[in-house]
Amino acid sequence: MAIAPDIIALIGNTPLVKLRGPSAETGCTILGKAEFLNPGGSVKDRAALFIIDDAEAQGLLKPGGTIVEGTAGNTGIGLAVVGAARGYKTIIVMPDTQSREKQDTLRALGAELVLVPAAPYSNPCHYVHNSRRIAGETPGAVWANQFDNIANRRAHIQTTAPEIWAQTDGKVTGFTCAVGTGGTLAGVAMGLRAENPAIRIALSDPEGAALYNWFAHGELSSEGSSVSEGIGQSRITANLEGLAVDAQFRIPDTEGLGWVRRLNAEEGLCLGLSSGINVAGAVRLAREMGPGNTIVTILCDSGLRYLSTIYNDDWLAAKGL
Ligand code: PMP
Repeated sequence: MAIAPDIIALIGNTPLVKLRGPSAETGCTILGKAEFLNPGGSVKDRAALFIIDDAEAQGLLKPGGTIVEGTAGNTGIGLAVVGAARGYKTIIVMPDTQSREKQDTLRALGAELVLVPAAPYSNPCHYVHNSRRIAGETPGAVWANQFDNIANRRAHIQTTAPEIWAQTDGKVTGFTCAVGTGGTLAGVAMGLRAENPAIRIALSDPEGAALYNWFAHGELSSEGSSVSEGIGQSRITANLEGLAVDAQFRIPDTEGLGWVRRLNAEEGLCLGLSSGINVAGAVRLAREMGPGNTIVTILCDSGLRYLSTIYNDDWLAAKGL
């Protein structure tokens, strides 16, 4: 495609990049899917496009309509990009704990940004419940509902997984990533297992999330906390339903940040913390599986989205990191 007809056509088909340090340390080929190269700058562009296509196909989203969503930021950015290109308004509800860069990006893209205080999911003021309420009160609006709308994981079943399979010539033997909605992990797992059921699928969970204990002991409970954004789930979303994993890892922020720093300094890759946690998980999976394996993970978004947080030593020190 020499000339893309529009920005939407540039979503997906991201390259795989060999992670030299992680590969050398483990004797495996560890590959990162460069999702930060999507037009909106993250893996969530794929889900945003599938959710909007699905709402249009169902006749829920009409010309000039509005898309409302609760998000840690990246899904909102994806919806704002696709929405602008298709003539929709976007209203994005986001906890005020998320990075300033994501807030500014949303405003720059023309989204209406509603910042709410961080609250537990059980609280009616939680950003997800807030976004559902706003969608209900706004004429011509649809609620994207990324957590429980399985158009999200379908994006990864139909695009991310087949891309990984083709780009590795079917040699991929392991895959891991962290979970926000679960669309990426469940969708890639389903898509890759349809090609080869022996591919080992692992969850890389940040501290403070409940899924590690769910997959390890069948109980939704958590310990610790994380400064990562966009990941760390406490419930089984519709996107996660039916997913079984072969291994699960709990990754402390310090381990993820260590990889963020190393990949930046040694390989020129500037990434967010969820990518660092994913790479840490890929290294653990590689050690568990042994040399010679081909392991893929997701490089979810760019570090430029976190210059004021994880790339700021004062901020890290204030967080005790
Ligand atoms: N990393 C970042 C930076 C994200 O914004 C998200 C999405 N919330 C994820 C990882 C997780 O992706 P998913 O929602 O598909 O689980």
